[in-house]
Amino acid sequence: MHYIDPHIHMVSRTTDDYESLAKMGCVAVSEPAFWAGYDRGSAAGFRDYFEQLTTFEPKRAAWYGIQHYTWLCINAKEAENVALSREVIAMIPEFLSRPNVLGIGEIGLNKNTRNEAIVFLEHLDLAARMNELVLIHTPHLADKHQGTRMILDMLAGETRLERQRVLVDHVEEHTIRPVLEAGYWAGMTLYPTTKCTPQRAADMVELYGPEHLMVNSAGDWGPSKPTAVPDFMLEMRLRGHSEELIQHVVYDNPREFFGQCPRWS
Ligand SMILES: [Zn+2]
Repeated sequence: MHYIDPHIHMVSRTTDDYESLAKMGCVAVSEPAFWAGYDRGSAAGFRDYFEQLTTFEPKRAAWYGIQHYTWLCINAKEAENVALSREVIAMIPEFLSRPNVLGIGEIGLNKNTRNEAIVFLEHLDLAARMNELVLIHTPHLADKHQGTRMILDMLAGETRLERQRVLVDHVEEHTIRPVLEAGYWAGMTLYPTTKCTPQRAADMVELYGPEHLMVNSAGDWGPSKPTAVPDFMLEMRLRGHSEELIQHVVYDNPREFFGQCPRWS
């Protein structure tokens, strides 16, 4: 079965990972802009990163027959520096017409601070003005519930954004319901240590149904498994779910959401 990984940081992964993904049926990946593990010192550092995401990375994916898409932003971890964030946000429109760019992301909150909220709102304004899709990171562990509430409040205040054009990622059992009920898309992240397991993701599909739900690996430079989506597919199969239902979550849903961007093909 073909699948799409809707959230994976391939610049941190090896070429062997692309080969493994292709062998397991991955036909497309979507890579949100992310924290590099250290704070970039200048807007020029982000310019180089956006170049990599829009030129070399799609080429590397294509060696294995995988389509590579990306999202641009300054992430929440670096958003404490509001002046730098504004420089980066001002630069993003130069890159929005590149053929593999799907929108603004992954924006969001990390420690739920005032500066993070300011930069989040300015990204939402950019997305609304440029009519772009939005991909949102919700905070980790203890900060997740409060951060998700803050994010949903700020989203509700930005009335120019259509809800079906926003994906709220890293949902868990205690945050999935308000996201789906408000009309947004929700992503479940399969991590070996935190976030979600394939079993918990399968439970949530059983509880909430497959509509507006996606599953991703969020593979990055830390402990993570780039082939986690096939683990979810196997778990669903072992529980006796139909191929149609599995495909709905891992292929049809990302296609439908991303397909709202005219640059998706
Ligand atoms: Zn991510």
